Amino acid sequence: MGRQKFAVSAGSELTWAIIFSLGWLVCAMIALELTQGADGLAAVWPSSGIFVAALLLLGPRGRKLTSIGVALASFAANMWSGVGVLPSVGYTIANLIEGWLVFVLMGGGRAEHVLLARPLNLLRFAASALVGGIASAIMAGILSSNFDTVFLTSWMSTVTLGMLVVTPVVMFLHQDEAHETRMLSLRGFWTFVFVALTALAAFGQAEFPLLILPLVAISITTAALGLSGAMVALLLVTAIGSVLTMFDLGPVGAFFPPVEQQVLVFQVYLLALLVSTLPVALSLARNRRDLEEIATSKRLLEAAERAAKVGHWRHDPDTDAIYWSEEAGRMLARDPLPATLTEMAEMFHEDDRPRVMGLLAGARHTGIPFIFEARIDSPDGTPGYFECRNEVETNTRHGPAIIFGTIMDVTERTEAMRELEQAKLRAETEAAEVRILAETDHLTGIPNRRKVLSRIGGQIAKAFSGRHRFTIAMIDIDHFKTINDRFGHEIGDLTLVKVSQVLEAHLRSGEMVGRVGGEEFLFVWPGSDALAARERCLAIGRALAATEWHKAGLEPVTVSIGIAEYDVRWDESQLLRSADDALYRAKHAGRARCVIYEEPAVI
Ligand code: GH3
Ligand code: MG
Ligand code: MG
Repeated sequence: MGRQKFAVSAGSELTWAIIFSLGWLVCAMIALELTQGADGLAAVWPSSGIFVAALLLLGPRGRKLTSIGVALASFAANMWSGVGVLPSVGYTIANLIEGWLVFVLMGGGRAEHVLLARPLNLLRFAASALVGGIASAIMAGILSSNFDTVFLTSWMSTVTLGMLVVTPVVMFLHQDEAHETRMLSLRGFWTFVFVALTALAAFGQAEFPLLILPLVAISITTAALGLSGAMVALLLVTAIGSVLTMFDLGPVGAFFPPVEQQVLVFQVYLLALLVSTLPVALSLARNRRDLEEIATSKRLLEAAERAAKVGHWRHDPDTDAIYWSEEAGRMLARDPLPATLTEMAEMFHEDDRPRVMGLLAGARHTGIPFIFEARIDSPDGTPGYFECRNEVETNTRHGPAIIFGTIMDVTERTEAMRELEQAKLRAETEAAEVRILAETDHLTGIPNRRKVLSRIGGQIAKAFSGRHRFTIAMIDIDHFKTINDRFGHEIGDLTLVKVSQVLEAHLRSGEMVGRVGGEEFLFVWPGSDALAARERCLAIGRALAATEWHKAGLEPVTVSIGIAEYDVRWDESQLLRSADDALYRAKHAGRARCVIYEEPAVI
């Protein structure tokens, strides 16, 4: 409910105690002056209501001070009304006891600032006031030795009514700003004028039975101004009714000539007003509070959704209606938002539509929560990506289930992921290209020296770890310098390319040939011995001889080849030296031939 504004500081406790005590005295004197019945008692005793309100609203010091003030006021008022000293003391004690009893019944010290606008608190208060009234009557009877039933019941109802009618009003006025602003509005003013007029009409004449009018007026006030308004209206009717009745105007005096009956009849009428107004007023107050709470929760939910950038939606299959929360609507940026499932399907990108609608239909059957990410482009065509986490609402009735889900804009995340993925792919491709470039001879496109040597390293490791043999051949073009000198460097280059093509054509699976120097090539034959390699070299020689060089605008070339089979005692450079050695011998022997390396025989 509303904010409490009645925080009493220590200094102002005295002020409030004086205000409440004076209020007590004034109300008591007015009630005694205007509504005193034949038994010497007033029709209503608003002072008891003021005292209880003070006890409920003030702190311990304020309660003590008000009790002293009320004791003095009570004694003075009773003496003033002509009651003797002893009964005055007795009535004063009864007045103090009734207030404190209600205070204790409402929870004692914990009752400070108790909000009577809460229906349960108000019911508790009504019961406490009744108990307080009964106790007060018994005390007053004992202390003034007056056991007359009319006196006792009259005391009881006077006190109880005083508390029921006055305490809630005083407390509402102090506690709840919302009620106060409602009542202090122009509407509040006219409502109370209307209530006053009905009270005047009902109690100001006896010709027409208009007692129902104040009841109607209070009901209207309840609807217009709530619980506190109803209480003020009741106070107004009580004040006007009791004064007019005591001036012998109105229906009460006309139909019930004996004065003690008039007081009782008037009290019963007030009770009837209370009883008929309270339930409606209470349920109205509760509804109002529920509505306020719902509005607050909705506001908080909207704020939370805005902060978290998460919206929600709900589809009811009975009506095929879709609800979108404010944030969901803002995210989707559509006007109007999809109102049915078919319209929602349209919203999804066609690539995702069948998957999403399939998921929704499936979940209705299984009842299992599900998550999906889908593309929803904005109306201007900008791509958007959304993550939806969904629940299926279980309900007891048969028929398709309701689907409830959250929706979150993940466009930035998805696009960042995409860019990351593309960058990764680009980097991988570039790395692969760089790797290939680093291992490829730029002129001929066959493996370069680095790659061939690394293959030889692998073969050596393999031979070292098991029964594996391999052979290499160093191939050098004969008199290549002359080609360059005679036909130019470009023709020399083309010749190199042609030779590399012939060599490549002789490659079989697992074999490798690369350019390792200016016009030098290296062939690697895994699993092959020197003799088998020699056969392959002769085939290469034949192929070069059969090449139609002139057609390609080139001069025929021959090659010299040095073959070396790997010996496990060797390292890489020893193997290459052996091949070079064999090549040197091939050159020396007249070129255009192949020679197998042989270890010099030790004599
Ligand atoms: P030999 O039969 O003794 O091997 O004679 P040769 O002329 O081939 O001997 P040498 O090794 O002295 O000559 C190699 C020549 O290859 C020297 C150089 O001008 C040429 N050469 C090296 N790299 C390239 C190249 O990339 N392009 C061209 N066009 N010529 C190159
Ligand atoms: Mg050479
Ligand atoms: Mg050469």
